[in-house]
Amino acid sequence: MTDNIYCDVAIVGAGPAGIGAAVALDKAGIKDVVVFEREPRAGGIPRHIHHPTFGLLVFKRPMAGPRFIEKILARCQDVRFEFETSVMGIKPDGVLEIVGPEGIKTVRARHIILATGAREKPRHPRLVSGLRPQGIMTTGTLQKLVYGENLTPFERPVIVGSELVSFSALATLRSAGAKAVAMIEQNPRITAYRPAIGFSALMGTPIHYNSKIVDIGGKDQVEFVSLDGPKGKRRIDCDGVIFSGDFVGETALTRTSHLANDGVSQLPLVDANWVSSDENISVIGNCVHPADMGDQCYLEGLEAGAHVGEKLGETSGANKGAFISISHDTRIKMLAPGALRMKSGQSVRLDISLHVLSPFTGRIVVLQDGEVIYKEYQRCQPARRIVLRGVKFQQAGFEQESSPLPVIEVKLG
Ligand SMILES: Cc1cc2nc3c(=O)[nH]c(=O)nc-3n(C[C@H](O)[C@H](O)[C@H](O)COP(=O)(O)OP(=O)(O)OC[C@H]3O[C@@H](n4cnc5c(N)ncnc54)[C@H](O)[C@@H]3O)c2cc1C
Repeated sequence: MTDNIYCDVAIVGAGPAGIGAAVALDKAGIKDVVVFEREPRAGGIPRHIHHPTFGLLVFKRPMAGPRFIEKILARCQDVRFEFETSVMGIKPDGVLEIVGPEGIKTVRARHIILATGAREKPRHPRLVSGLRPQGIMTTGTLQKLVYGENLTPFERPVIVGSELVSFSALATLRSAGAKAVAMIEQNPRITAYRPAIGFSALMGTPIHYNSKIVDIGGKDQVEFVSLDGPKGKRRIDCDGVIFSGDFVGETALTRTSHLANDGVSQLPLVDANWVSSDENISVIGNCVHPADMGDQCYLEGLEAGAHVGEKLGETSGANKGAFISISHDTRIKMLAPGALRMKSGQSVRLDISLHVLSPFTGRIVVLQDGEVIYKEYQRCQPARRIVLRGVKFQQAGFEQESSPLPVIEVKLG
């Protein structure tokens, strides 16, 4: 049976970003807010992370994920949560299609906020050949098993990658009484900050640089991996493989919708207030910039929610203005915001954050209609956020239908 739900704001995803938006809307006095979450509880990724990597920015002290979630949830007690409810589609005019315990329903909201998060790239898109024994998973799945279900899926796995989350996998294994036999990194240095090497040394886990897994072997459970590295091919005996990092936004909803996406990353384009090409839909959190820390996503949710609260209080519509996408070099993995909203004759100043695909040192340049409006020398590493602060877009006249919108590009070098 198809039924309708009406609300002021529908939030999709109850991770830190979605909760942040709910807190701000509650504070702004928007009472009819519903959060749709496919899991049985709120919290998103931090719910499964029991080491103290949350809270520093928001509460000025480190805490485990579940405690962080408990504290931020306490700030939005009047918000309605619909659990075990998946959003299957988004349509123009504030329409969502959902499937929950009571079947299929249609939601009609004055504004929608998407906060669906990010996940790690699993084995399949990484094109690693070999058999399909048990014991191959991402850090996210490992954390769900260890912290959520008290299970230890293996005792001596290898970890592929060396981002912060790869070291988080080491810590998770330690909590489960297991130990990684190797970390495998395809570049000549780790992706996380260098001091993290001390942690792997402490755990007794060597890091193999300039190396790639080319094969996974084993009948029922993983028995070995083959590495291609500086000394040629070699075999490492292990009982599991953890594919860590290499985050991708959960964009299944946005890619199949009417929203504008970035031509390179396929991530949804948003302006500086996190509003998409549809003025009634915002997109926030790691769904737009895979993957930043939980505290940042919560703070961004607060900002985006406050903007929506303000917009709903106005009659003129705060999001008016042309939606101008920012194109970029293919060496840039993602830009946030990837677009700006600008009225004719108005200049706009904003901070743009970006992640690169591979290490880059040199100038980052922003061009408006071919003219340099910002340049900065930067050392960029993949998976690290670079922020271009106070980029000032010059005013341009484009009120007439025949006058083109400004062309904005971000280039490396
Ligand atoms: C494995 C892993 C480990 C991480 N470790 C850390 C760490 O230690 N510290 C840290 O600060 N950050 C960590 N991060 C980054 C983490 O993504 C952020 O901390 C934070 O969780 C991002 O918040 P979010 O709200 O954007 O997304 P999420 O926390 O991912 O929340 C998204 C929510 O949306 C729901 N959802 C998705 N699609 C739908 C749909 N169609 N319908 C309904 N609900 C939906 C999901 O179930 C989820 O609850 C980690 C990320 C991963 C993947």
